[in-house]
Amino acid sequence: MIAELNSLIAHSRRVTQFAFGMDRPTAVPSGLSNWTARGFDDELLMTFARARPKAILLQLLMLMPILTISAFSPPILLIPFGAFLIGLGLAASLILADYWPKFKQLTAKRLFLIFEALQGTGWALISQASPTPDFIPDMAFLVFIPVALGGSSLVFSSAIRGALGFHLLPILIGDFIALGLSSGRSTPDALYLSIALIGFFLYLAGRITETTLDHLTIRAEKDALIADLEQAKAHSDEARRRAEELNLAKSRFLATMSHELRTPLNAILGFSEVMEAELLGRHRVKAYRIYARDIHESGQMLLGIIDEVLDLSRIEAGRYTLEEQICQLAQSVSECAHLLQLRAHSRGVIMMMTVDPELEPIVADERALRQITLNLLSNAIKFTPSGGEISILVGRNPLGGQFIQVTDTGPGIPAHEIPIILESFGRGSLAVKTAEQGSGLGLPIVRGLVAMHGGEFSIQSREGEGTSVTITLPEHRVIRSSAQASIIETHDRVAA
Ligand code: ADP
Repeated sequence: MIAELNSLIAHSRRVTQFAFGMDRPTAVPSGLSNWTARGFDDELLMTFARARPKAILLQLLMLMPILTISAFSPPILLIPFGAFLIGLGLAASLILADYWPKFKQLTAKRLFLIFEALQGTGWALISQASPTPDFIPDMAFLVFIPVALGGSSLVFSSAIRGALGFHLLPILIGDFIALGLSSGRSTPDALYLSIALIGFFLYLAGRITETTLDHLTIRAEKDALIADLEQAKAHSDEARRRAEELNLAKSRFLATMSHELRTPLNAILGFSEVMEAELLGRHRVKAYRIYARDIHESGQMLLGIIDEVLDLSRIEAGRYTLEEQICQLAQSVSECAHLLQLRAHSRGVIMMMTVDPELEPIVADERALRQITLNLLSNAIKFTPSGGEISILVGRNPLGGQFIQVTDTGPGIPAHEIPIILESFGRGSLAVKTAEQGSGLGLPIVRGLVAMHGGEFSIQSREGEGTSVTITLPEHRVIRSSAQASIIETHDRVAA
């Protein structure tokens, strides 16, 4: 019970503080700068300055009947004095509404509050001194004035904390003084009612200000979030642009270097071949012939790597041009398999091929297709241990495209290594451990060539079970029978 009472007291204290602008500094969402906090006050002041003049008409409408009534009563000095204070406060408020940005924020706010208090004092004098003719109940002005003022100011002045408080405070003080003096003119009931009404309006004003601040806070947080997002996007765009530039520069460098290396390498290959074949005379030391063969073999390996580097850099730099022609996928694949059959056999690996007999011709770069197939098959042969199997499947997919699938029963690739091996020069731990030859360029080249054909590349692998790589060429590369007939017909006509 006591705890509930305490929380009620704390809440009502907070609301009172709100109403009179004495609470904590403006709530600033975490992460927002001081600029935003100042921005809040500026915004609230601006809202107040814009709305305040609109309340003038209402105040005048309220003032008119009271002045009219008092004109018919014996003169009471307090009424015109009160009206003068109200007019002064209103006029000053109006002028300040135009010129407040020229003042310091706090000064402008204080001036507004003083002018509110000035008007409030005027109303307090009128409400206490107004004559009430017989046809109007005694308490009419005492109750009517706070209700009308509170209601209208609620709408117009809740943007500044304390504005309503300063407006109604003089009336409240007037009520208390009247209660204290227990002047015979006003009934205590009317005074109590007036005090209760003022309390109610102060409470409402506090809540409205609280809601307005929450609203502004949420809006500021949203704006800050949008700004953060825009900044992050700008950074990522810039980073991407720089990465692309660097990648292009790297590819150009590699392409140039590879080209420069090929020329001396060709000389090494040519001369080592001549020396191995002893074309210009026998070596006196036999080992020289073996050395010459080693030089030739190493040179060829190096040439293979340089060719791969050159191909990949051309692909990445967008300088690889496809030489498209009509070809049979199955035929290209089986020629490559045939080429590597001996190597597979020597390593004790069985190679099997299954082909869809009704495969239509496709439009593709045949050299690229061979390179794709050779890379996939040589990987499968390289990594499959003796006694293992490699199956090659060439067929059609449900979307009308054609695919090559190379599956082996080798050691497989750990899932976390797949992104690595798809990068240039990326090699799996197994290849490094078993010291298998390779540059880590085969798969990136395959991916690049497949992408240039508009196809798809996928790799499925399970450690200890094997690897399956599938490349798919899209449906639009397949020449349908009717299209094929018309192509042949056109060729015939051209020939004729
Ligand atoms: P490399 O010239 O090193 O073979 P690749 O790009 O062709 O370059 O392959 C990259 C790595 O992917 C290899 O080093 C190997 O670790 C892994 N890899 C590729 N194919 C297979 C496969 N069929 N079985 C197991 N590992 C494979």
